[in-house]
Amino acid sequence: GIKCGIVGLPNVGKSTLFNALTNAGIESANYPFCTIEPNVGVVPVPDAREDALAEIVKPERVLSATVDFMDIAGLVEGASKGEGLGNKFLANIRETDAIVQVVRCFDNDDIVHVAGKVDPVSDIEIINMELMFADMESLEKAIQKVQRVAKSGDKSAAGKLAVYERVLKEVEEGKLVRLIELDKDELQLLRDLHLLTIKPMMYIANVNEDGFENNPHLDAVQKIADAQGAVVVPICAEIEEQLTELDDEEKAEFLSEMGQEEPGLNRVIRAAYDLLGLQTYFTAGVKEVRAWTVKKGATAPQAAGVIHTDFEKGFIRAEVTAYADFIEYKGDSGAKAAGKQRLEGKEYIVQDGDVMHFRFNV
Ligand code: GDP
Repeated sequence: GIKCGIVGLPNVGKSTLFNALTNAGIESANYPFCTIEPNVGVVPVPDAREDALAEIVKPERVLSATVDFMDIAGLVEGASKGEGLGNKFLANIRETDAIVQVVRCFDNDDIVHVAGKVDPVSDIEIINMELMFADMESLEKAIQKVQRVAKSGDKSAAGKLAVYERVLKEVEEGKLVRLIELDKDELQLLRDLHLLTIKPMMYIANVNEDGFENNPHLDAVQKIADAQGAVVVPICAEIEEQLTELDDEEKAEFLSEMGQEEPGLNRVIRAAYDLLGLQTYFTAGVKEVRAWTVKKGATAPQAAGVIHTDFEKGFIRAEVTAYADFIEYKGDSGAKAAGKQRLEGKEYIVQDGDVMHFRFNV
């Protein structure tokens, strides 16, 4: 699946958030290094459109799209030099498609902060520096390798070398690779290096229940994120974890008391989905209504391939109804009668919410 890695310093609330996300109930204790093994949870993406479709289609079951979250513990200052569980951490994060950085924005004297005080600016700097150190090492190694080849007069190696050296210089100056201006070819050259700071990243500001407003810690995180073009999702992980333990009725009551329509967790999951550049299309039949995940910009055959690779290979056409039309005309036959169901070919770019049927050769 497509995977988000949850990172952050110890005791910032990663496990609490992960527990809430997956309801897995893994241990969360008040000391560093409590979560040693990486934990992966498959998390359904909340989408109210599924219920609206189900009301029309009356399917046997409804299946949501999912995103995998991985709780990655062990990052401390010096991780890139092998401190703590540093190397393991870096290997885990290399596997992910995007990074969710949890930042502690809550004060609580009972909970130890590794650096001695709550300071999100410094925390973010530590994490991002460790990621950048790891990238510098990857770049340096790659440069050494490619230098040898370039010396023998290989032109493509010389091109690679120039890109690697420029990127290394910018990372050394404190820039995340994601923020370095690179064209398509240059990005392609970097792909093999599996750099960490090239991955999309968002910040989760873990606040106290009353910390959503007038919270200087939160403001500080927002300021950093703005400068990086990154998203911040404020959340109280502790409350979210408590919410997952309630039944539906209690949950609704709890949320309405707080003046919220849905758990804050939903914002985290949707933001992660966005961060990954993903969108949803639906299949809607009497057997099931199902949300499927494709990259934004995916073609109809690629969308078909998410269901089964044979669907992509043998793709002929797709019958497509925009979500709003499907709802307005109450299903396939209504949409068809109103002329709202289109036949699309191989070049069609899937739009978020499309309801699709595929025709294919087997
Ligand atoms: P991790 O080391 O980053 O995985 O952090 P944990 O999830 O284990 O959390 C560390 C401690 O902080 C635990 O005792 C949590 O109960 C507590 N904690 C987590 N989120 C919050 C929060 O939003 N507010 C408060 N006051 N405590 C929290």
